[in-house]
Amino acid sequence: MAKYQAGSTARHRAIPLAPAGGLGGSPSGDGRLTRKDGLLMEWVIVLMLLGIIPAYVAMAKGRNFMVWWLYGTFLFVFAIFHAIMIRPVDENLHHYGRRYCPHCEKIIDLDATRCEFCEAEVPPVKKE
Ligand SMILES: [Zn+2]
Repeated sequence: MAKYQAGSTARHRAIPLAPAGGLGGSPSGDGRLTRKDGLLMEWVIVLMLLGIIPAYVAMAKGRNFMVWWLYGTFLFVFAIFHAIMIRPVDENLHHYGRRYCPHCEKIIDLDATRCEFCEAEVPPVKKE
């Protein structure tokens, strides 16, 4: 039983995305952790793993991964929607050959001279 507890810390390092069912073996009452503490720790680990999802989405849009990971860990439901909703930083969009229309804020080609959505003329952008 005591050996099981030592194994549990090694387990979350080895498996970055352990399934929720796989974390079921909590240390029993003879260790330092009570069953309740073990369950809480498992939840924290699950939430931290879930928090990676919005953090990854936000990072793809040029945001800070660590900040969004914390956000996603504590407020997963909000963070995942927020990460999907936020607009990418402009430099990040330029990397993909896209930019925002200054008139309607929709994403258009970087070298477009006219917005394909609102049909307004847009100033040319120099590529790096
Ligand atoms: Zn437009």
